[in-house]
This record gives sequence, C-alpha cells and structure tokens, in this order.
Amino acid sequence: MTTKVETKNDKEKSNNNISNSNTCLSNTTNPSTPIKSKYTPNLEVADFLPDAQALIKDYICYLCGGVYFNPRIDRCGHIYCTPCLKITDCCPLTNAIYNDSNLTPINFVSAIIDKQMVYCRNKSKGCEWTGKLIELSEHQSICPKQSIKCDIPGCIEGDLRENISKHQENCEYRVVPCVDCQLTFPKILLENHFKECPEGKLECPKNCNEKIKRKDLEKHVKDECENISVYCEFETIGCLDKFNRKYFEKHMIDNHSKHNLLAIKKIADFQKDSQKQITELSERLKISEKNNEDLNSLINEMSTGKY
Ligand SMILES: [Zn+2]
Ligand SMILES: [Zn+2]
Ligand SMILES: [Zn+2]
Ligand SMILES: [Zn+2]
Ligand SMILES: [Zn+2]
Ligand SMILES: [Zn+2]
Ligand SMILES: [Zn+2]
Repeated sequence: MTTKVETKNDKEKSNNNISNSNTCLSNTTNPSTPIKSKYTPNLEVADFLPDAQALIKDYICYLCGGVYFNPRIDRCGHIYCTPCLKITDCCPLTNAIYNDSNLTPINFVSAIIDKQMVYCRNKSKGCEWTGKLIELSEHQSICPKQSIKCDIPGCIEGDLRENISKHQENCEYRVVPCVDCQLTFPKILLENHFKECPEGKLECPKNCNEKIKRKDLEKHVKDECENISVYCEFETIGCLDKFNRKYFEKHMIDNHSKHNLLAIKKIADFQKDSQKQITELSERLKISEKNNEDLNSLINEMSTGKY
C-alpha cells in the first residue's frame, strides 16, 4: 500500500475530479470531529495489531477518521488520504482551493504506516493472518476467507475463495455435456436443449410403447410405428380393409382365402377384358383388311386403264 508515484494522467484525473466538484465544506468550526458521512476510511485503527495502534492513532485523516491511506499534503500543510482529497476541492480546515500542485504524496508517512502490523481484512470471517500493511494486498490475493467472484462466464455469484470450487461444482453456468448428444452447454441452458435435442428419446405419440429418438420420430410414425393404420397390401385387387400395422401379418393369414378369391376374380376380370379387347381388335383388323382389298382392286383397275 505504498503511495505510488503519481503519473501525469493521475494528476490530470485528480485535478479533474477536484474542479468538477465545486463544493467547499462549510463546517470548519469543529475540526476535531471528522466528517465521516461523506468519506469512507480505508484503514481503521482497529485494523492494526495492539502494539501498532499506539503509534498509528497519530496518523488519522481528518476527513474520514481512518488511518492515512496514500496520504497527500495540501497547500496549507494538512494531510489527507488521496481518496478523501478527491471528494473535496478545498481544504476543509481553511477553505483554500486546491490546485494541481498542492497534492504531493507524503512517502515517508506511507512508509511508516506500511511497516505496521495489521490483521487480515477477513479476520471476522476467521482468517488469522497478521503481517505488515504492505504485505496485506498480496495476502488478500490468496486469502481463503476472501470473497471472490465465480469466474465461470455468465455467473454473477461469488463465495469465499475456500468455497469457490464447491460453488463451481454446482454453478448453474458450468459447462456440462448433454447425456444424449454429448454436445456441451452451460447447465442453465441444458433444460431447454433437452426439449429439442435430436438424440433425445421420446415416447411414441401413437402409444406403441417404443422410445424413439426425436430425429427419427417422424419416420417412425410414417413408416414403422405398429400403431398406425395401414391399408391391406391387396387394396389394388379389392381388399379395402384398414388396420393397425401390427395386425398386418394376422390380416394376411386370416384373409388368405379372401385375397385368393379377389386375385382370381381380378384375373378373370382381366381375362374377360382381354378377350373383349381381342375381339374388338380382330374386328378392327377385318375392317382394315377389307379396306386394304378394296384399295388394291382400285389400284389394279387404275393400272389396267379402266379409268
Ligand atoms: Zn481520509
Ligand atoms: Zn489545508
Ligand atoms: Zn486472510
Ligand atoms: Zn458460478
Ligand atoms: Zn443433446
Ligand atoms: Zn410408434
Ligand atoms: Zn386384405
């Protein structure tokens, strides 16, 4: 938590913040009471171990009431935390307006504070770590009691670092495979996928008791399902019976004689028709032969000069 070297950008940024908010604090009559409502302390005396507290209680920011955090000095010599200075644009004790050049970091104060022993910020959650303030942020990056966000895309939940893997095992956004098609989806989308997975099995809608893959269902109902009504194979020779596909064989056995009779009748009809056609054809042939003879004799008569 050392005060970092201020870059040109930082300076511009803090300067902007200051000039954007144009409210000087009016309450300057009681400088011993920090104006806590507007400012949040980054460090409290209680964050430090008892041995350090005796020293640290002399390093209190007037604005937030906390221990100096990245302290800076203003034109009139007062010291405040950098975040606190960014909220106001003038010294709360003298009303002097800040400008670019009067926000110098006070590195030696930071260095003294950085060396003091602190508790982990997650002490209340059970972390027993203690160390120098300067080591705190590194500890927090591995602290098991630190709250962290679940890093699975889409999830906005979080948990203590020590519990996060347990959360992620059940996280609604973890990627899981569909048991039917093996494609992977965030868990939360799987239920919708199940409603349309082509490999998912469904009860046949015609109640044949078969379970059919969604992608094959249409074909099953059309060509395979035993509960679908079909016409007898001998429809063309006159059996107009309609029955469930599963009774097909039974129908064929039960109606063997009927089919035979129908077939014989069909053949007889066919023969009758054929005979009729043959008679018609031979009559037409006779007529045409007669025409032919007439034509021939006409040609003969013409060639012998009768005409
Ligand atoms: Zn402060
Ligand atoms: Zn001042
Ligand atoms: Zn910790
Ligand atoms: Zn999650
Ligand atoms: Zn699937
Ligand atoms: Zn079926
Ligand atoms: Zn039939």
